[in-house]
Amino acid sequence: MSKKDLKDNLLYENKNAFGDASEKEKAEIFDFCEGYKKFINEAKTEREFCESACRELAKAGFVPLSSKKSLKAGDKVYTVNRGKGVIAAVIGKKDITEGINLVGAHIDSPRLDLKPNPLYEDNGIAYFKTHYYGGIKKYQWTAMPLTIHGVAALADGTQIKIVIGEDKNDPVFCVSDLLPHLASKQMAKKASETISGESLNVMLGNIACDDPDVKEGVKYNVLKMLNEKYDITEEDLLSSEIEVVPAFEARDIGLDRSMIGAYGQDDRVCAYTALRAIIDIKKPEKTSVCLLVDKEEVGSMGATGMQSRNFENIMAKICSMMTKNYNDITLRETLSNSTCLSADVGAAFDPNYPEVSEKRNSAIFGGGIYLTKYTGSRGKGGASDASAELVAKIRKIFNDNGVKWQIGELGKVDEGGGGTIAQFVANLDMDVIDAGVALMSMHSPYELSSKFDVYMTYKGYREFYTEA
Ligand code: MN
Ligand code: MN
Repeated sequence: MSKKDLKDNLLYENKNAFGDASEKEKAEIFDFCEGYKKFINEAKTEREFCESACRELAKAGFVPLSSKKSLKAGDKVYTVNRGKGVIAAVIGKKDITEGINLVGAHIDSPRLDLKPNPLYEDNGIAYFKTHYYGGIKKYQWTAMPLTIHGVAALADGTQIKIVIGEDKNDPVFCVSDLLPHLASKQMAKKASETISGESLNVMLGNIACDDPDVKEGVKYNVLKMLNEKYDITEEDLLSSEIEVVPAFEARDIGLDRSMIGAYGQDDRVCAYTALRAIIDIKKPEKTSVCLLVDKEEVGSMGATGMQSRNFENIMAKICSMMTKNYNDITLRETLSNSTCLSADVGAAFDPNYPEVSEKRNSAIFGGGIYLTKYTGSRGKGGASDASAELVAKIRKIFNDNGVKWQIGELGKVDEGGGGTIAQFVANLDMDVIDAGVALMSMHSPYELSSKFDVYMTYKGYREFYTEA
């Protein structure tokens, strides 16, 4: 072995590899990210993502699982969980009890949710009251354009879809902030207290109706406009789920257009790449499953979160449709023998804030798909820790197929921490590791990613489905 070969073999170094990509690959990366931006501009909530995903799956020949009596190799099916989650599967050639290859992402993102009884008037202005969803820095959500997305479920069973602010001719909405001239007390507070949760009120209107008998004319006028547009009443708002999200579109960032700025890349960037990967695989050896769940940002609870039995129920159904003598052991064996990439974003090293990261164990922009061996915090508390054997298996798949990858953990020891769905997947007796795109400004209204990493994440999931 030459001195240089020895050195290349012996040492491991993570570096920004975007510039090393061939012209052909660069074109593929940019092209892929155009599709990504377009998709997430139209899917800003879990319900919208679910709808768009089903449309793409149907276009690619996936059919509802309920339309099938049995399943054979090559079949492509999907299910929807209460309009907020999707499971898509491509049936493999091998027996299902040899395990599946699972990529699981979440499609909910931090935002402001309307309170159950949201509409009120205060000093001649109509507002929606909100309760923020997920871990946000509240001060980031004031003084910027916001849009409203959601559904109102009516007593007669119909559902009204509501989207205001996405059309160029629509108005947008806003939470006000204090002028610096009068903010000396506010600015002296801790950043976590400068904006209170109860002041995240969304402005809706300022014109009162002309009926002098109506007490709160501005609120009434707003309600009348909602009624004209959507045929809903104030009580209908009480059985609605309406989310307030940034009005920004996904845009290229940088002169070289190498990065993407967008709302909700956590975790729609992994959800989109996982979805594309399952659509693009041909005939896998093992059954490939793409799982898109809701509620990760608030602990994965509820019927649409990862802690729900929904995934097991659907897997039981799939197993039973592939096996002659199905019993509970069929499902248990299948889950035990399966491997999962928990497709979630990580924190990229940010040169503006180097103090929170340990550089050798952080992701960098342009470093490729990011493996997080364990999450948790303070002495790996609450961590789901992937085994060395699993890291080796994934490393081989990526290296053999030209997938640039990197590995690390979230921030310096004792700096903070976080969790993903990995721990709940692991509870099913499954090998799992977090793998996804590293972001800057995570959980802010405008999260940043590197296009190279977005593409390598897609490629990583695709090769995992094909090779594992
Ligand atoms: Mn996430
Ligand atoms: Mn998150």
